[in-house]
Formats: sequence, structure tokens, C-alpha cells
Amino acid sequence: MSKGNIGVTSDNIFPVIKKFLYSDHEIFLRELISNAVDATQKLKTLSSVGEAKGDLGDLRVRVSLDKAKKTLTVSDHGIGMTAEEVDRYINQIAFSGAEEFVNQYKDKAEAIIGHFGLGFYSSFMVADKVEIFSQSYQEDAKAVHWSCEGSPEYTMEETIKAERGTDVVLHLNEEFSQYLEDATIEGLLKKYCKFLPVEIAFGKKKEWKDGKQVVVCDQDGNEEENIINNTEPAWTKKPSELKDEDYDKFYHELYPMQMDEPLFHIHLNVDYPFHLTGILYFPKIKSNLDVKRNKIQLYCNQVYVTDEVENIVPEYLTLLHGVIDSPDIPLNVSRSYLQSDNNVKKISGYITKKVADKLAELYKADKEDFAKKWDDIKMFIQFGMLTDEKFYEKAKGFALLKNIAGEYMPLGEYEAKVKDAQTDKDGNLVLLYTNDPDAHYTYIERAKQKGYDVLVMDGELDVHCMSQAEQKSQTTNDQQPTTSLRFVRVDSDTIENLIRKEEAEKDTYTDEQKEGLRKAFEGLLPSDADKLRYYVSCEAAAKDALPVFLTQNEFMRRMKEMAAHQQGMAFYGQMPDQYNLVVNTNHPLIQELVGKETAEQIQEEVEKPAEKEGDAPTKETVIKTVYKLDGEDERLKQLIDIALLASGQLKGEALARFVNRSVELL
Ligand code: ADP
Repeated sequence: MSKGNIGVTSDNIFPVIKKFLYSDHEIFLRELISNAVDATQKLKTLSSVGEAKGDLGDLRVRVSLDKAKKTLTVSDHGIGMTAEEVDRYINQIAFSGAEEFVNQYKDKAEAIIGHFGLGFYSSFMVADKVEIFSQSYQEDAKAVHWSCEGSPEYTMEETIKAERGTDVVLHLNEEFSQYLEDATIEGLLKKYCKFLPVEIAFGKKKEWKDGKQVVVCDQDGNEEENIINNTEPAWTKKPSELKDEDYDKFYHELYPMQMDEPLFHIHLNVDYPFHLTGILYFPKIKSNLDVKRNKIQLYCNQVYVTDEVENIVPEYLTLLHGVIDSPDIPLNVSRSYLQSDNNVKKISGYITKKVADKLAELYKADKEDFAKKWDDIKMFIQFGMLTDEKFYEKAKGFALLKNIAGEYMPLGEYEAKVKDAQTDKDGNLVLLYTNDPDAHYTYIERAKQKGYDVLVMDGELDVHCMSQAEQKSQTTNDQQPTTSLRFVRVDSDTIENLIRKEEAEKDTYTDEQKEGLRKAFEGLLPSDADKLRYYVSCEAAAKDALPVFLTQNEFMRRMKEMAAHQQGMAFYGQMPDQYNLVVNTNHPLIQELVGKETAEQIQEEVEKPAEKEGDAPTKETVIKTVYKLDGEDERLKQLIDIALLASGQLKGEALARFVNRSVELL
């Protein structure tokens, strides 16, 4: 037996390992199994070039627990190690990496991500003592037994081992008795080893029979082992070998709890300038909620690393599902470093391009089918357009708008469709939209009568996307200024004001008359100064529009909506809701209310000597009498309520009063 000191200068490296890795100590299992798989793959390679002789036999990696001895063992039938190799790889080399790491990160434990390939030594996070029994594939090699109790001291001696390969035995620390539980280990194996290229066995395969679990036997009556992994996951195959069903099947293998089918997939495969394979799926995204449940999983040579890929793929792509496998993503660095890593940047750029190209291709191939899926993928595409300029450029060709007729088309096409009708007198293209077709029914009908089209913009990101499109439309290129684009909600003003044309409706009212009307309505409006404010304006809308209706300023409303999602806009969020009550001076009902008297007549009326002392009429009362508004409060109220009703704001007691008043008036 030989004794020695592990080739490292610092005596206290074990406590440091334990402390640093505390939160992520489960990765020891992944590290040990990765080594076992590597050793097996190496043996296969050696065999293929004729360096390892004979039949390789059983190559399964086995994980076993001994509850009495409190040990966890990982066994492989790989290349094994000679005593000299244990000395080189375990005593010297492996540890130098760990030491470097510890020195580098001594002061910033929190900046560390869990996966940095401490490799074999991570087993000391959970074990008091670790033993290696190894038999090299090399002819005449003697088996070796190495043992270390978590200090830089180790022992090494010759031993007898029947089979080629390596057993790593962990004597678990009291604190980590959870790793003696079958369920815990099976869970970890499913997490980290599900797609490893060598079979991993843990326990026996069981099935439910007559209400209890029984071990499954093969044809010869031998108990079958429980194999954890699929050694050939879909992403490692060529796209030409796979059918759509295979991709769907793999999706469910990846996310066993996911019931929905994915909408479509992208197979990633690149060799230069970095290595990356993978499959990304477009899930149905209905709301923000179910987005975060399943995530893209990152693998390194089929070993699961993490599902936190935020720094590797652009944020909007984290809404996708699937796997990315790349040995070129540096895992042993801090997160902030990852973002500036050149390979990672290239990978991110590549994935963005692939995703955009695939979407463009799908759109081109079958526009109708793409439109059908649009509602499910729009959040993802819009998120991408808002946050990634390059993606925006590609996506504008297939990012669709939907109108109330249920037609889908990209903005450019839509602009061409409505351009003639909806360009205003100043050359701006005005796009009308609703976020609630039922509530805006009357406004939409008005728009239709004018020959305008209305978009349905009811998505969470629509407001932001509209603002973005407006901004983009304002950038002029040198040669020709493009007409600028404006989105306005159908209820944000009279339809005549929303798209102003030369032949505006004529308004024959004097300022005095309008003032009179305004005052009369103002006095009767509901108000709640903190939350809700109404302003009255007189406009010459169409004769067949409502006599009185509500509009809501586009700018203010949009600012409020955006404030709900964005920091730094709280000011807008706190403003009361503001509405305009538009009195349609062209409507016969309003004209009937207002006499044709002129301003001079009113003035005369005001200046008439009072019949009785102290009974001189004020201008206001005169206006009311002249305009027959006096004693008309009930009718005015009725008009206001109709306006409120038409935009869905008449509720509760006010609604009941309206109903009663209607009956009385009839
Ligand atoms: P890494 O795997 O990152 O190289 P490790 O500390 O995990 O670092 O392992 C160090 C070396 O020890 C490996 O590169 C390998 O040569 C050897 N080794 C570890 N485990 C095994 C094993 N099960 N079979 C054969 N060799 C092994």
C-alpha cells in the first residue's frame, strides 16, 4: 500500500468545496456518471481502432445503493485506470483544476453557477470517504484500490477486481442520507442522465400487476434492469431520419407532464464555428402563466446541465421548449462572463436566425395554416420583435395582424389594403383597432360604414408592438420620407376626427351655442375626480352617428396601459381614466334642442331690462331657455346614459335608473 498527499498546496480545499457547492451538491452524481460514460465511450473508440481487444461485453453503467453500509456506488465497464493513471488523473491533474477554481472564486461564492466540472472531487461534497476500485482494459494491468477520507491524504494499493472498469464508492455523510433513497436517486438520474449515450441502470424494472408493483422478467425469466435513459435522443439523429411523429414523441419524452402537442419544431445542427445540435419546439402560448413551466434544457454531450438558458439564448427564445446540446458553451464561468463570451454570442445569433428562417419558411409554405397557429405563437414573435432588432427585421414579413373579419396578414400587406381609404388629409396612414370587438360594436359599425377596416389588437404585447411600428414608420430614408403610421382605437375619437379628410362635416354652430350645450351636459355627468373624469366637446360628426357618445384619448389610454407593464411610468398609471363626451352637433336630436338663435339674439335677451327687481337673467339661464334646454334635464341624462351604455360603462344603479327613466319617457 502506498500513501501520499494529493497534489495540491492548499490544505483546506475540501471544506471550501463543500461550502461553495452547498446549494448544488446533487451534481456529484452527474459528474461521476459522466466519468463512467466517458470511460465507456473511450473504450468503444479504442475497440473500433483495434486497440482494445475482444468482445466488449456488457457496457451498462450501474448505480446502486447499500443502505446498511450507507454507500452509493457508480460502476462502469469502461477503460478503467491503472495505478499510475489513478495517480496522474486523480491525485494530480483533476485536483489542479479544482484548486485554480477555488482560488479564483474564493470571495464570490454567490457568483458561481453550479456546474464547473469539479468532476470526481465533487463527490466529497456529500461523502466522508470515497473509494475507487479500477481494472484497466490494458493487458497485464493490476487492479487498483484508492481511498481518501476528504483530506489531502489518500491510500493506494493493489487489489483484485474481476471485471474491467471502475467502481466509485461513496460513503455518504450523515447529512446527506437522502442520497440513500431510491426515489431521490431515480429522480436525479432522470434529471441529469435521461439522454446519456450509454445505458444507465438503477434497480430493477417494475410494473403494476394486480394492484402491486412487480419486477419485470425477460423471456428467459431473468429480472430486467431499470434503464433510465434513451441513449439515442432525437436531436442526435439526422433530420432526414426523423418523421414529425418522432419529433412529437421526443417532445413528450422531454416533458412528460405536457399534454399539448407542439406547434412545430426546428432541428438545429451546426459544426462551424461552434458545435451545436438540438431541437426547439414552438409550444402553444396562451398566457404568460404556462410559459415558464417547461424550459429549454441545455446539454453538454448529452449530459443535462441546466434549464436556465437565459444567458445563452435571447430572452424571448426562452419561451420555446426543447434542447440545445453544445460542448462549446463554457459552463465553468460566472453568468456575467457568459453574456460576453464570443461563442455564446454566436450561438445566440445562430439560434435567432434559425428560428426566424424557419418561421419565414412556414409562413411562405402555407399562409393559411400559419394564420391558424398565429394566436398561439404571436406572443413569442412579438416579444422577439420588441427586444431584438435583427429578429424584428426578419419577423416583420410574417408577423401577422388580424382584423375583425378574421383575416390575417403582415403589416405591409395590410397597409396596402387600407391605404386608399384610411390615409388622412395630411398623408398619414391611420389604422383603426379594437381590443374588445363586443364593447366597441357601435364604433366599429361606424368605421365600417365609412369603408374603413378595424384590426383586433387584444394581445398582451399589442400596445407595445403598435408603438414600435409607429416609431419605425417615422424613420425616413434619404430618398423618400415614408408616410407615417398611426394606430388609433376606434373609440378614441369621432370617426371623422380619427381619419380627417378634406371634406369634413360642416359645423354651423356658433361658439356661444356650443358653450351652452357643453355647460348643460357637463352639469349632469357622473364624476369621481380621482378615478374617472369626463370632458364634454361639441363635434360635427355624421348625422347618423349617435347624438352623444364617448371617446377616449388614444395617447393617454395607451400610456396608462403601458404603465401597467413598464417601470418608470407609474405617473401615467395613477392618472384618472379620462373620457370625452362628444355632443354630435349634426344629429337631429341635438339640433332640435338648440334653437337657431344667433349670438346677438342671446345678447339682446341678456341685456333686456328685468321685469322684476333682482330678477335679471344670467347669460346661462338665457342660453338654457333659448336653447330649450331648460327643463330638459331628463332627456339630457337619457342621452348621456345612452353614450355610456354604448361604450359599456353604464352599470349598477346608474343602469337601473336609465331603465326606469326609459320606461317613463316612453
Ligand atoms: P474530468 O472528468 O473533468 O477530466 P475528473 O476529476 O472527473 O475530471 O476526472 C479526472 C480524470 O480521471 C478523468 O479525465 C479520467 O481520465 C479519470 N477518470 C475519472 N473517472 C473515471 C472512470 N470511471 N473510469 C476511468 N477513468 C476515470
